[in-house]
Amino acid sequence: MDLDTPLKYVKGVGPARAQMLEGKGLLTVEDLLAYPPFRYEDRSNVKTISQLAPGEMATVVAEVASAKTARLRGRMDLFEARFRDVSRVTLIGKWFRGDYLKTLLMPGVRVALFGKIELDGFSGELSIMHPEFEILTQADDEGGDSTLHLGRIVPIHEAAGKVTPRVMRSLIWRLLETLPPQPDPLPATLRQKLKLPDFWQAVRELHFPRGGEDLRLLNSFRSPAQFRLIFEEFFWLQCGLRLRRSNVRLQPGIAFDLSDRARERIKAMLPFKPTGAQKRVLKEIATDMSAPHPMNRLLQGDVGSGKTLVAAEAAIIAIENGCQVAVLAPTEILAAQHYLYFKNLFSKLGYVVGLLTGSMTAREKTKMKQLIEAGLIPIAIGTHALLEEDVGFKRLGLAIVDEQHRFGVVQRLKLMEKGVHPDILVMTATPIPRTLAMTLYGDLDVSVIDEMPPGRKPIVTRSVPEDRIEQVWTFVKREIESGRQVYVVYPVIEESETAAFKAAEKMFTHLSGTVFPELRIGLLHGRLNSSDKEDTMLRFKRGELDILVSTTVIEVGVDVPNASVMVIEQAERFGLAQLHQLRGRVGRGAAQSYCILVTGKLSDTGRERIRTMVDSTDGFFISEMDMKLRGPGEFFGTKQAGLPALRIANILRDTELLELARREASDFLDHPPAEAERDRVLAYLRGHWQQRYGLARVG
Ligand code: ADP
Ligand code: MG
Repeated sequence: MDLDTPLKYVKGVGPARAQMLEGKGLLTVEDLLAYPPFRYEDRSNVKTISQLAPGEMATVVAEVASAKTARLRGRMDLFEARFRDVSRVTLIGKWFRGDYLKTLLMPGVRVALFGKIELDGFSGELSIMHPEFEILTQADDEGGDSTLHLGRIVPIHEAAGKVTPRVMRSLIWRLLETLPPQPDPLPATLRQKLKLPDFWQAVRELHFPRGGEDLRLLNSFRSPAQFRLIFEEFFWLQCGLRLRRSNVRLQPGIAFDLSDRARERIKAMLPFKPTGAQKRVLKEIATDMSAPHPMNRLLQGDVGSGKTLVAAEAAIIAIENGCQVAVLAPTEILAAQHYLYFKNLFSKLGYVVGLLTGSMTAREKTKMKQLIEAGLIPIAIGTHALLEEDVGFKRLGLAIVDEQHRFGVVQRLKLMEKGVHPDILVMTATPIPRTLAMTLYGDLDVSVIDEMPPGRKPIVTRSVPEDRIEQVWTFVKREIESGRQVYVVYPVIEESETAAFKAAEKMFTHLSGTVFPELRIGLLHGRLNSSDKEDTMLRFKRGELDILVSTTVIEVGVDVPNASVMVIEQAERFGLAQLHQLRGRVGRGAAQSYCILVTGKLSDTGRERIRTMVDSTDGFFISEMDMKLRGPGEFFGTKQAGLPALRIANILRDTELLELARREASDFLDHPPAEAERDRVLAYLRGHWQQRYGLARVG
């Protein structure tokens, strides 16, 4: 047996358990050893019942004497088991809603109980509420692994189906007993420098901490063993990202020439004087583009900061060098929006702008593909449809990806394969918390637009409970009377547009029929075909509609400076980053703008989310809060966002270790103690980490 042995061949596992373990992504011995306990219990304080004192945390080994379920008021029940041990004193265990326990805790069953001892004021007996418990088997008494579950600090692993924490503990214990000590993959110099414990010792102590280890340290994941393993995980990740980045940089790419003609054309295109930040990031981008290696740059900037304008400038450089540009958008609406935006900017320059989306007819698509392939479309805008296999460019030089958080590493690679190492510019309006950016985009260079175009007034945000919606409509009416336009938006929940679409349609009927029969109202949702969407958007943009009722299809990119009010229905259902994006649709013109969050029943986190929005307009602060309130996984929607599956490390909890690992990784790669050591590390990285983190291009 070694680390690569599949778990199903491990003694005590078998096919059924192997399958349950697989559900948690645990396939090999190595996987199980890397599966960390999520908490620890100090069960070293084992006492007889007669020795117990009220108030203490203790472990007791006892037998069920009797058990019963009492019905309480309502639907609640209370399960009570009386335990007795060698000292012949009784301890009462109590579980609310514990009726299901009656088949487990039957008279005669021996258990280990762990919890806080209390004195039942009513009966004067000792009791224990909702204790942790484990049923003891014969084997536990006959030596075996009895010392595993009691009389020590005990690891609690998350169960995998019917593989309970107890079974998990025994399995891991046996693995650790059977396997010879494994070599330490971390560079020895690094271990010495940071005083990290040895790998195998750390793995053992992760699962079975030494006696006397500080429980609080363990439960906050900062014991020396945990520290080392967390650091190690980040270290490999950062090494991988670093290598991928430098590899891309070494590949041959297009060296674009920033000619006088290109400069002139940029000047001719610009509708405004660029802000200082826009100038700075354009310079960063242009420098990358002129290098003979592919650019891999992330352009970050709050909603409305003017990223698209910068992208257009970069596109001109590519086009003037005889290359094609692809602009990739996450939704059809945004693709259509970009199409209009670029068409408008580029019409003076005589560039043909093409649009390719999934909802176009087969004929339209075929025609567009032919034009792109023939090189007749200098700038093609589209959704995922642009990534399809049968789309070929004559000479793709620059790919602009908008709203990166919906695209994963895989899509980025697909794009790269469409050209001969084209330059890639990723734009995101979601201010990505630094730690996440480091994890997700460690392989990208980052440019930040940290300045808004001049003359913007901060948006005023208010929350209003839904039963006072009439006040909102009164306000909306006043704004429209003074010449402004208004958005009313419904959330799309969990990828299904249906509910949001129905709600939006209902509101559209209500507003146009009852509330504002005299106003011009439009409806926009994902079910419309692209020409209808484009048409509705154009009408709103031209001021031919007063109100646009919409599902979140407008979440990103819509640009109508005259719109001054954003009403968000069921605001509690949106994530914070999404609310911030939506709010960024207003406040683009000179008028004071407003965002009104209409809320239903609020949970505690719901209330906190809404309050964050009302109090802050700082995108970075908001996204940090969002990540805290929802967790990093959900922050990005799904796994396909390319968030690496970390085993023991946690981006939120372990920020400072991530930064340490990042520093050490680049230090090691830049100044390896010896070439041989660097080669060894690279080989290890290739073998172990490449697949897991999608670092397919490492080394
Ligand atoms: P983003 O893509 O970052 O959300 P956009 O590029 O769509 O931002 O720009 C937001 C709005 O600001 C648009 O109406 C755009 O025309 C305008 N804008 C961009 N740059 C400037 C500038 N330098 N001065 C004035 N307005 C600008
Ligand atoms: Mg944009």
